[in-house]
Amino acid sequence: MALAEYRRKRRFGVTPEPAGGKQRRSARRLVYVVQKHRASRLHYDFRLEWNGVLLSWAVPKGPSLDPAVKRLAMAVEDHPLEYATFEGVIPEGEYGGGTVMVWDRGTWTPDVPDVDAALRKGELKFTLHGRKLTGSWVLVRTRSAAPGGRAGWLLIKHRDAAVSTDDVTATEPRSVVSRRLLAEIAWHEGGNVEKAASGDPPGEIQKLIAEPRLVRQRRRGTRAVWHSSRPAQ
Ligand code: MN
Repeated sequence: MALAEYRRKRRFGVTPEPAGGKQRRSARRLVYVVQKHRASRLHYDFRLEWNGVLLSWAVPKGPSLDPAVKRLAMAVEDHPLEYATFEGVIPEGEYGGGTVMVWDRGTWTPDVPDVDAALRKGELKFTLHGRKLTGSWVLVRTRSAAPGGRAGWLLIKHRDAAVSTDDVTATEPRSVVSRRLLAEIAWHEGGNVEKAASGDPPGEIQKLIAEPRLVRQRRRGTRAVWHSSRPAQ
């Protein structure tokens, strides 16, 4: 039911993304994941497990560790829990076509007693236990969804020991599960490498061009990472 919009937008015979429904909830703790997604535009998909799905927001500029910086987060359709391990290539022409990286992953805990009430009210305080993002954060709704539209929220870091003015999207550009750049994921999974590379820091791509042996080898059988069955280019 909650995944109706997610399923309506996708053709599961074509896209390697999960249809969902296999996993009802996490074993112990609530999953948190950020996926870097070079679709028609680069964005970061911020997802929190709640009520058996991943609540999802598209953050065009990605998260900031600076409490003075408020990042636009557009509410998007709920995703299945299985999506949290998805890293690969959505075929061009399909919904969200492009390269997806698991940019950060971990668990989260609500800082409020009633998450559903907080979501209705439009202010959710929570703590992240990720590899790149930790500490206290808030999502604040600034614009309700117009009919057929999406609600606008802001993702803001709270002041605590984890704040920084460094741009974490620039200093930590690689996958937390495979250590790959977007360009390497596209290369391994048969995607558009040039398009994917446009979402990586130019300095990282320059390093690979200067020293191609640094390109990460494709590894199969890594349980944490999904691999498509499509051959590498
Ligand atoms: Mn996306």
